[in-house]
Amino acid sequence: GDVLSIRGVARTFAGGTVALQATDLAVAENDFITILGPSGCGKSTLLRMVAGLDTPTSGAIELDGRPVAGPGADRGMVFQSYTLFPWLTVLQNVCFGLREKGLPLQQQLDIAHPFIARVGLKGFEHHYPKQLSGGMQQRTALARALANDPRILLMDEPFGALDHQTRELMQELLLGIWEAERKTVLFVTHDIDEAIFMGSRVVVMSARPGRIKCDIPVPLPHPRH
Ligand code: ADP
Ligand code: ADP
Repeated sequence: GDVLSIRGVARTFAGGTVALQATDLAVAENDFITILGPSGCGKSTLLRMVAGLDTPTSGAIELDGRPVAGPGADRGMVFQSYTLFPWLTVLQNVCFGLREKGLPLQQQLDIAHPFIARVGLKGFEHHYPKQLSGGMQQRTALARALANDPRILLMDEPFGALDHQTRELMQELLLGIWEAERKTVLFVTHDIDEAIFMGSRVVVMSARPGRIKCDIPVPLPHPRH
């Protein structure tokens, strides 16, 4: 079945702003879905509801057939603004969810170190976020999300604050991980080039008010399955 099922989900904010009209979206295992649309079309609102950080006004969101209620480690989040814990090192940030789960320290390290290497941060384990560039902070956020082995990665303009060159590097890195580890990804962006380059499906939204206008499978130049 689908990893994620969004059915009839709408969101109206207090004051009457319709952020999202009734929306349906089914995400299959290994999909890399990019959600493309202008500012204000409801992309973040949709993603936040899947993350359990906001609640639909109506409709249903299910992960593996179970209703989403609040945030959980089964959904790995990466936001545009680096949401690392500033008082924790790279290694401690990546271990955070594993520690919450109650894993013994050695097991946390056995899981964290390969992901840190995978995102290219070997040697930076004991650095604090403020000692890292923006790109390196997003590498850390990605490693932290992956370390929890989420069912789906939820990414909201994750590379939006990076310079052009770093952004392209991070896109290649994420695609490589997606291809190698068979991850399911829901990726929000307002950058049309990024949406078409990254997505195996591009879901296009429009504002006034937010809704999905089309859903396009994208043949990619990358080796895929
Ligand atoms: P996008 O991510 O596509 O830029 P958003 O989901 O952030 O769009 O916002 C969709 C619409 O909902 C916008 O009109 C925005 O101003 C409004 N909105 C978002 N969050 C809130 C909120 N917490 N309260 C009121 N209006 C909101
Ligand atoms: P994005 O475009 O990336 O969604 P925004 O700047 O629109 O970012 O939103 C940042 C935060 O502010 C989000 O938590 C969003 O829900 C909230 N927000 C956006 N628009 C409004 C609004 N009109 N009233 C209250 N909160 C809002």
